[in-house]
Amino acid sequence: MSNKKEEKSAAAQLKEKLFLNRKNGCLKVSEEDIRKSDEFCEEYKNFLNNGKIEREAVEYAVATAEKAGFTEYDRTKTYQPGDRVYVNNRGKAVMLAVIGKNGTHNGVRLGIAHIDSPRLDLKPNPVYEKNNLAFFKTHYYGGIKKYQWPTVPLALHGVVILKDGSSITVNIGDNDDEPCFCVTDLLPHLAVEQMSSVMKKAFNGEHLNVLIGSRPFSKDEESEIVKLNILNILFEKYGIVEEDFLSADLTLVPAFKARDLGFDRSMIGAYGHDDKVCAYPALMAAIDTKLPESTVITVLTDREEIGSDGNTGMKSTYMVDFVEDLAKADGEEVRHVMAKSTCLSADVNAAYDPTYASAFEANNSSYINNGAVITKYTGSGGKYSTSDASAEYMAKIRKILDDANVLWQTGELGKVDGGGGGTIAKFVANLNADVVDLGVPVLSMHAPMEVVSKLDVYMTYRALYEFYINEE
Ligand code: MN
Ligand code: MN
Repeated sequence: MSNKKEEKSAAAQLKEKLFLNRKNGCLKVSEEDIRKSDEFCEEYKNFLNNGKIEREAVEYAVATAEKAGFTEYDRTKTYQPGDRVYVNNRGKAVMLAVIGKNGTHNGVRLGIAHIDSPRLDLKPNPVYEKNNLAFFKTHYYGGIKKYQWPTVPLALHGVVILKDGSSITVNIGDNDDEPCFCVTDLLPHLAVEQMSSVMKKAFNGEHLNVLIGSRPFSKDEESEIVKLNILNILFEKYGIVEEDFLSADLTLVPAFKARDLGFDRSMIGAYGHDDKVCAYPALMAAIDTKLPESTVITVLTDREEIGSDGNTGMKSTYMVDFVEDLAKADGEEVRHVMAKSTCLSADVNAAYDPTYASAFEANNSSYINNGAVITKYTGSGGKYSTSDASAEYMAKIRKILDDANVLWQTGELGKVDGGGGGTIAKFVANLNADVVDLGVPVLSMHAPMEVVSKLDVYMTYRALYEFYINEE
């Protein structure tokens, strides 16, 4: 054993100075950071298990915010710096604001994540019987690879609204003592034709029929008595009849719970990381923000997975209307406020997967455990359908994160012309604010079980918090 310290060569020293440091993020952070990541993710798993659909995520967010002193926003009231308010948009999206010392005069700081995830929605007339089996017809929501959904245990979540306006909450299939449901698949023995057809055709949208029962109502010689039995069970349990499905938001989601993944428990496997894995850090950052310089607004939005259309999605005016109310109270015009506003669009990116290396460009991919990923632009082709964050804004964000020792990386979504995708960033940019995507790298994005690293989840929380409290 020698105690002579190795001198770094001139080349090694120069590399350290000039090259981007791309070593494994776990080697750059402290033991304390790893411990805090594990701790932070315990409640995150609870959020995932209790917020599989946007309505449940809003309920969780509102309850957590109220405990932390947020009250429902009232535009006739006057608010002081440090006041905490929330706006619940139809139970499917929520905004939390912490009023800053400067209010809206220097713009607002926005953190926006989405709480909807790909899934199977029930069609308006879903129940049918065929060959003595009862099924739900579904219409998939968001970008899914359809073959991934058969034989996965599913739970039914959502609401049925009766004609008198009363609401029935449905949440069945997640607990061990409840029944679950599933889409069936063809046995390999008889799948010669299926296996030789292209993936898109082998399993299409009308194959996504969910098995919900098999026993007839009675020994009567009536038709559709399996369906009758199911409707009778639903009537006894929920008081609903077939027509009530017409005024329902019911959806099938994977029935399993969020789990630690890997022998080292460094990752989490769960349904719906995209984008609860940014929504939860954003919610926690909002709650931990006490008296910011500028007003901080955290938006947990809906409809992102289908392009943000609809009154609870980011193409709706609901966020800018809220900013306008806050601006008016400060004697400001909303357009002047938006022009000075900055935003982190908190959404996931694809983590480099060595098994599918050809889909990625290694120098510009995000990696598990390298921290929060900043995505300068998303979109597809020649940078279509995206906002491209300016060099000036990128520099601001770099400084905030580096000054606070936040572990972060950059990433593009896959290789050029390999496909593509978008986030809500462009809708915010179109409101004349500065915005860039920042979030968590995900393996198996949009699959029934997605994978993230605990360190990256925690660093995304830290990035959002530092962005909220650091005025540039
Ligand atoms: Mn997303
Ligand atoms: Mn997505």
